[in-house]
Amino acid sequence: MLTQKADADHCLYCGACCAFFRVSFYWVEGEAIPEDFQEQLTPVYSCMKGTNQKQPRCIALQGEIGQQVQCSIYSVRSSSCREVQIGDQQCAKARSAYGLIPVIQITEPDNEEYYDFDRVG
Ligand code: SF4
Ligand code: SF4
Repeated sequence: MLTQKADADHCLYCGACCAFFRVSFYWVEGEAIPEDFQEQLTPVYSCMKGTNQKQPRCIALQGEIGQQVQCSIYSVRSSSCREVQIGDQQCAKARSAYGLIPVIQITEPDNEEYYDFDRVG
């Protein structure tokens, strides 16, 4: 969630994945996250407060989804947050739930043949 990979700026105008999934993590990761931002799920798993409910919204998410957002604990966010990448299935699912069009990642192959084309005309 709120990924830092390519086109990170896009996430700053989205935030949908931070208000769609239950964001759980192994207890060790929780040591870096403020205690009052966490909800314990099992003896070894916790989740971000606000995400374990019917209409999830992570307590650390600031701003308005689809407008402008930021994560107030970005540097210590859990691996669950880091796993979601712009343009992946989870991203598309979350964005679609908020009526936002999917983001498509276009990766150009880094070989020269890709650019070796004939010009027409
Ligand atoms: S849903 Fe996708 S674009 Fe939106 S914040 Fe999450 S990773 Fe970024
Ligand atoms: S901790 Fe930050 S990145 Fe993770 S779900 Fe919450 S707002 Fe999003």
